[in-house]
Amino acid sequence: MESWLKNEYLIPLLLVLLILAAAAWAGSRIKYRRYKRRIDEAELEKQETSRRRYVTAKMKEHILERDNATCQICGISKGYLDSLAPGLGDYLLLEIDHITPVKQGGSGSDESNLQVLCWRCNRKKSGTRTNEEVAEMIDYGIELPHKRRRLFR
Ligand SMILES: [Zn+2]
Repeated sequence: MESWLKNEYLIPLLLVLLILAAAAWAGSRIKYRRYKRRIDEAELEKQETSRRRYVTAKMKEHILERDNATCQICGISKGYLDSLAPGLGDYLLLEIDHITPVKQGGSGSDESNLQVLCWRCNRKKSGTRTNEEVAEMIDYGIELPHKRRRLFR
């Protein structure tokens, strides 16, 4: 009886198996590289987004001064609140808003894309609404001073 080792089909069979294994390995490498590239691209985009979101302390100061520390939608300011009751202004939280959201390409290094908003208007604006849309929604139940410098554009 002939040993299976001497089977004339053995070598071709091993070759076919080797080729299949090599193909499977190459396929997995290609898939891994694609996956890796996707991850790297997502990471780069994240870094780019956080770079564009960043507003320097100096720029924040400049925007606060330019907008007269006044919410550019509802017009509220610390000074106005202080005029109602001394010290009341300390309760107002003013924020620097990206007029065009960072996710839509807006940048924090471009001062024409920055404005002062009160926290309330900023939450409503979020990354989804324009100044005009927020202004139509808000009714804070207090008389506001309307000292907005450059409200809508
Ligand atoms: Zn406001």
